[in-house]
Amino acid sequence: MVAIQKLIDENGLRVDGRRLDELRPIKMEVGLLANADGSAYIEQGRNKIIVAVYGPKEAQPKHIGLHDRAVIRCRYHMAPFSTDERKSPAPSRREIEISKVIREALEPAIFSEYFPRSMVDIFIEVLQSDGGSRCAAITASSLALADAGIPLRDLVVACAVGKIEGKLAVDPSDIEDKLGEADMPVAFIPVLGKISLLQMDGMFTEEEFIEALNMAKNACMKIYELQKQTLKQRYLQIEKEIQETPVQKGEE
Ligand code: ADP
Repeated sequence: MVAIQKLIDENGLRVDGRRLDELRPIKMEVGLLANADGSAYIEQGRNKIIVAVYGPKEAQPKHIGLHDRAVIRCRYHMAPFSTDERKSPAPSRREIEISKVIREALEPAIFSEYFPRSMVDIFIEVLQSDGGSRCAAITASSLALADAGIPLRDLVVACAVGKIEGKLAVDPSDIEDKLGEADMPVAFIPVLGKISLLQMDGMFTEEEFIEALNMAKNACMKIYELQKQTLKQRYLQIEKEIQETPVQKGEE
């Protein structure tokens, strides 16, 4: 007989020891790829995701260009080794759907009207996945866009809220996602106060939905602070590198 795993213990703690409103540990980095215009890396729990951004550059092929704004393209891809069983490297329906919703979550934050007839490419590679990868990918993609110097209204930040054993819990991990009753990924653009992604897998009551949305926003604001710190760190590092670069003769 298969043992049924308890997702919340008698102390109200989850499988990985977290409280219901606690995020998984998060690590972020920007500017790590030399050959992309912008890049970012995120670890959220056991998720490991890298994002590269190219552009704005001339739309290619030309006929995809728009006269009044840049075309934003996004590809979310899971590496064959990112899941417990080898995943086919070919794009699945799920990856095509996630690529679309991530693009739609990011687009309202981008001043795409500044770059008519051009395009921006966002490549997301999930190296290791652990539930909530679309949210972590959105958080990292907006950092990579900022790193590429693409004008943004604000960063976009995302986090899911799940229902496990009848209780709402932020940032569900893979096992909570799979064994839980519901999962609602939310992307938020803080400066605009706008939600740019809201999906739902499973069912919430109306009260649960309202509470889950609040929990998601609170969690997003915590991640938003980390995003801003990560960008600041990057610019402080660049400033330090410039100061430490010896001045060449003739440049004084
Ligand atoms: P998200 O990662 O945004 O939560 P899903 O809810 O669709 O997206 O997937 C939940 C988790 O299921 C993923 O993060 C991943 O760990 C796992 N998963 C998704 N697709 C596959 C696959 N083809 N093979 C094995 N595991 C998968």
